[in-house]
Amino acid sequence: MSYSVSILECPNCAATDIRPGQSFCHWCRSALIISDFSSIYSMDSDTYQEYANKLKSSENNYASNGMHGDYENSLGMTYLKLGNTSLAVSSFQKAVESGIQNPETYFYMGIAMLDRKRPFLNSKNTVTGAMNYIETALNMEKKGIYYFTAAFFEYDFYVMKHLRPPKPLNEYLENAKKFGVTQNDLKMVFDMMNCTVPNELLMQLK
Ligand SMILES: [Zn+2]
Repeated sequence: MSYSVSILECPNCAATDIRPGQSFCHWCRSALIISDFSSIYSMDSDTYQEYANKLKSSENNYASNGMHGDYENSLGMTYLKLGNTSLAVSSFQKAVESGIQNPETYFYMGIAMLDRKRPFLNSKNTVTGAMNYIETALNMEKKGIYYFTAAFFEYDFYVMKHLRPPKPLNEYLENAKKFGVTQNDLKMVFDMMNCTVPNELLMQLK
């Protein structure tokens, strides 16, 4: 068995005694990889800009530690937070190609594909593609916000255009209610989509 000798560096405190596979720095508790979007969403803008720069400067360390997928995923989430949706999509794509098994990667890929425009204003191809990624995320983990976002895609693209949605809207909404959606989830996801939560859908969660 061979061991990699490369050492990862904490993007925040520059600690170098980090082992591959660690998600958080054991000194300063900073995220070494962003596996969950909420961890980057709560950083202030200077912090995640700095995080992005440091992340990029340690790309080779991540790659040589077999963490290339985590690296691209972290970068994708940073780009999404910075509002650069096309770079986010290309990083998430690379994370997917590396075989990452993180539902957040697929979910936020779907979000980034909409390019900060409501589904209504996107092409059918884009909406269908984004919806497929959300379905993939749901196959990996059932989360209320994933169901609710799928319901929003269908509502805004199909229902608002008087078209029949590919799947029953109610099914998504019932599951959203069953698995639970927090105010925080809604704020974070709709903020990244640059969209307003429709009241008609919000009422269905009560
Ligand atoms: Zn640290």
